[in-house]
Amino acid sequence: MENKIYDLIIIGAGPAGITASVYAARKQMDFLVVSLDIGGQAAWSGDIENYTGYQFITGPELAQKFQEHMLKYGTALKENEEALELEKTGQVIRLKTNKADYQARSVIIASGKKSKELGVAGEREFKNRGLTYCATCDGPLFSGKDVAVIGGGNSALDAVLQLMKIAKHVYVINNTLNLSGDAIMLRKVQEAANVTILNNHSVVSVFGDKFVNGIKVKSPDQEKELAVQGVFVEAGLVPNSAFAQSVEKNLKNEIVIDSRNQTNIPGIFAAGDVTDVPEKQIIIAAGEGSKAALSVFNYLSKNNF
Ligand SMILES: Cc1cc2nc3c(=O)[nH]c(=O)nc-3n(C[C@H](O)[C@H](O)[C@H](O)COP(=O)(O)OP(=O)(O)OC[C@H]3O[C@@H](n4cnc5c(N)ncnc54)[C@H](O)[C@@H]3O)c2cc1C
Repeated sequence: MENKIYDLIIIGAGPAGITASVYAARKQMDFLVVSLDIGGQAAWSGDIENYTGYQFITGPELAQKFQEHMLKYGTALKENEEALELEKTGQVIRLKTNKADYQARSVIIASGKKSKELGVAGEREFKNRGLTYCATCDGPLFSGKDVAVIGGGNSALDAVLQLMKIAKHVYVINNTLNLSGDAIMLRKVQEAANVTILNNHSVVSVFGDKFVNGIKVKSPDQEKELAVQGVFVEAGLVPNSAFAQSVEKNLKNEIVIDSRNQTNIPGIFAAGDVTDVPEKQIIIAAGEGSKAALSVFNYLSKNNF
């Protein structure tokens, strides 16, 4: 365990955590950022057209700009490090990661969300062998191939929009009666010549040899196999909140916060997609990150830390 007690530890370096870090640096706090990656879900997005100031930017480009902004202040960053346990004893909050133990007077949890697994046969076996949870990261590997996108909301539409430009054919497997999501994205997907939408279908299994070569899908009246070399799972997201065991959560496992980003534990704040704030967007997460850092500054000042 490091003996040092930081003013603040920020968990996560997506839009919320990075923006919190910019505000913390400008308030001259002594802080640390601990994160599995930089950019979070923003780096997985294809085309972003709703982040004010950029009429169009790709997810990886925006994530790069966020990173440059954060590192401009010489921010202490522990990358590839996973928060495992968080607890408060007296006035000190202890964070245990897979690599070290840290202490701080305050914490901002900005650990966002991760992809939900389908829970079907073959999913784990073929993960990274044709089955992936990130179209932006892995889409280019499937140039000229037939692929399936599993899901029917905005994340699935975003994946289809990227893949239909790269792959030969894209099947969309959606287990509801209609796709949902932004009307503009939906129209582009419905009009694409190389996209087949299978509504009211779900995946039964993923199969192959060394790599994926197909999926079995079922509708209420039949089961069939589709020959695909790529499977992109876009079946929704779950909050990365398990490590914050004593922090109050709602039924969706989102961390409950007040309008100042304070959780039920004084000194532990949260921001962005991991919280119960309605609507999950980059600009909202970034705004929440800034608000959380300013709340931390007030909390530390009030408590004479
Ligand atoms: C495919 C896709 C397309 C999207 N397109 C758009 C769009 O066009 N416009 C828009 O506004 N929004 C879009 N979104 C939503 C947007 O990306 C999110 O709302 C936003 O990224 C949330 O930011 P965040 O910082 O709260 O969380 P995240 O972006 O999820 O970042 C969380 C961070 O925490 C880290 N982390 C997680 N668990 C741990 C742990 N245990 N220990 C340490 N670090 C951890 C992660 O590595 C990551 O750095 C899209 C999302 C997806 C998935």
